[in-house]
Amino acid sequence: MTRRELLAYLPAAASLKSDQRSAAPFERIDTHTHIRRLAPLLSAALENEQWRCLTICVSRASGDEQSDLEDMIRGSANVHRQSNGRIAWATAFDARGFENSNFASRTVEGLRHSFERGAIAVKIWKNIGMSIRSKTGEYLLPDNVALTPVFEAIQSADKTLIAHLAEPDGAWLPLDKNNPEIDYYSGHPEWHMHGRKGVPAKETILSARDHILERHPKLRVVGCHLGSDEEHWDRLGQRLDRYPNFAVDVAARVRYLMRGNHEQARQFLMKHQDRVLYATDFTLPSVDGSAATRELQDTHDRDWNFFSGKGTLSYRKSEIPCLGLPEKVLHKIFRENAMRWLPGIAGV
Ligand SMILES: [Zn+2]
Repeated sequence: MTRRELLAYLPAAASLKSDQRSAAPFERIDTHTHIRRLAPLLSAALENEQWRCLTICVSRASGDEQSDLEDMIRGSANVHRQSNGRIAWATAFDARGFENSNFASRTVEGLRHSFERGAIAVKIWKNIGMSIRSKTGEYLLPDNVALTPVFEAIQSADKTLIAHLAEPDGAWLPLDKNNPEIDYYSGHPEWHMHGRKGVPAKETILSARDHILERHPKLRVVGCHLGSDEEHWDRLGQRLDRYPNFAVDVAARVRYLMRGNHEQARQFLMKHQDRVLYATDFTLPSVDGSAATRELQDTHDRDWNFFSGKGTLSYRKSEIPCLGLPEKVLHKIFRENAMRWLPGIAGV
């Protein structure tokens, strides 16, 4: 095949190197990144290649660790402003004080302040369910009534709840060669739940998340990382069918779609084409944005090729078939769903 034929065959020149990228098919949106400062190179790349992003704050502190959330919020709000809105932002709150009597009022007040600075969503993280505990030692689950007023405030402000709850199955499996996430949990033993006493099962955490969807049917909820059902597309599909207020992002989980059954992945995306949001989980490091920017561009190109292409692409030393989704579906996954589930993401 000549180069010209190859280009005609691929809807986007996705497998090309950075200096050979072709024009963007339309303005696409990456709904899950972590960008706390504006790197000029990154800004230029997003603008040139017509991408918008959502940068998401996370309250990561557990136990009595010092929280970095205030800095993160300040940085994200600045990035939003300096990027002229090309990078939208989502705020977060520290759930560790959930037993304090003024928890709800203080948290809601903090969120209101973020909304005034343009935040379009609020993120909750896996430390709810897997790390934060009550004074008597029980794990805080996402459906704890202490959080109800917070979810009500998010809904009444017409913002979206972004929920990274639970983890891939590997967190609850022994760390051996059959564990698909052995690399991550070897480096992050604090999130490896297998063999620990009293930790909630994965399904307990996901059921608690489902209670939020049930109790707040008008609250939009985006479940990060395929809603942590990355290995169970049938079960995820049932949840999407049951809860019309639930959508999922594919952040850091396109690899599961790539290495899974090609036809099942395609059918899942076709069936739930209104409920899946494209995302990467890109993090801009605090020093040197240039290598990271190139990495983001490569990920965007590779993923676009995977979703839109009709040929194959090489991934981890094997050739995998691309999904070849119809243009209408690509438009939804890479743009329209983001605008519907995260209003304000593309400006006003
Ligand atoms: Zn993330």
